[in-house]
Amino acid sequence: MAGIYLHIPFCKQKCAYCDFYSIVNDKLIEEYVNALCKEIELQRNFLTKEKIKTIYFGGGTPSLLSPKQLQVILDKLIQNFDLENEIEITLEANPDNLSVKYLRALKEIGINRLSVGLQSFIETDLQLMKRKHTVKESIKAIGDAQESGFDNISIDLIYGLPDLTISMWEENIEKALKLNVQHISAYHLTIEPNTLFNKYYQSNKLNLPTEDESLSQFKILKRITEQKGFMHYEISNFALYGFISLHNTNYWMGVKYLGLGPSAHSYNLTSRQWNIQNLRKYMDAISQGKIPYEIEYLTKIEKFNDFLITSLRTMWGLNTEKLKKDFGKDLETYFLSKTKKYIDQNLMKESNSNFTLTEKGIFISDNILQDFLHE
Ligand code: SF4
Repeated sequence: MAGIYLHIPFCKQKCAYCDFYSIVNDKLIEEYVNALCKEIELQRNFLTKEKIKTIYFGGGTPSLLSPKQLQVILDKLIQNFDLENEIEITLEANPDNLSVKYLRALKEIGINRLSVGLQSFIETDLQLMKRKHTVKESIKAIGDAQESGFDNISIDLIYGLPDLTISMWEENIEKALKLNVQHISAYHLTIEPNTLFNKYYQSNKLNLPTEDESLSQFKILKRITEQKGFMHYEISNFALYGFISLHNTNYWMGVKYLGLGPSAHSYNLTSRQWNIQNLRKYMDAISQGKIPYEIEYLTKIEKFNDFLITSLRTMWGLNTEKLKKDFGKDLETYFLSKTKKYIDQNLMKESNSNFTLTEKGIFISDNILQDFLHE
């Protein structure tokens, strides 16, 4: 079983917080679709005949592609890979690109899961983040998607935003839940280098919440979503029963995946590789039959670190029996020696050899996971 990720590196404009690789130039889309199809052919043996269980169009903004262009890519995948009959095919979309006609066409070509970047139900937040859509367009997009037959819809939200009060955040979550979606990905704002927010931040123009306020926002998110039946199955992900993202869960479970397009990452259990992060150079190399990538072969310790980070992100946690079986007694001892202080501080808990982060631990998971990494 394996997954395929396709990076669509085009956006209508750059959002103020985003550091994903994309360019604001849709004139290159057609040329890019051809390059991507060529890369699919070049990479057809990467997953060594594993059955493909998930396909994920991410970006950038995949909803800038027409249904016909998406169909061409899907056909190329069908010709070159062995796809499962029951397959999850996700498309990331922005609300301002979605119409009933477009959504129906997506459904017809086999897209069965949407991940829609709503981010906030506060108009001024959307403007500050330089999002291209309004709150009204967000709500309409979800309604249109449901009317077009989509019954597996995820939305993205951002918290920890400048000037976001607890009551505003609570209202945001309530509005999100009223949309009757099956999945919510909620990320705390991080200030990334080379973003507009970083410029504002450097000149003290962002009134960011304190750590305590951010923790309260996270707890509220968890409480309200759980009251409505959502499982908090990964640090930033919440799903109704039966609607966890298979594609992302496979990343955390160490399943093989192939990433196609500029900046996309691939993993095949022994190595990680990533394509060049430059659309022009990517397309030029592909046109000459070369895949422009760098590769890193993983040592046992690097695989152990990956296992640690990915397992502890999820509600299933890290099982020490599996750790011992896959990595040996020494690394199990190393892991256990690190756990005590976190258990004492109520940041981690253990049950039947399964270690998971507590609510408090999840909120500062980046620091904890960093500390667990073996040098
Ligand atoms: S958040 Fe999405 S739409 Fe905005 S710049 Fe990043 S990839 Fe593009």
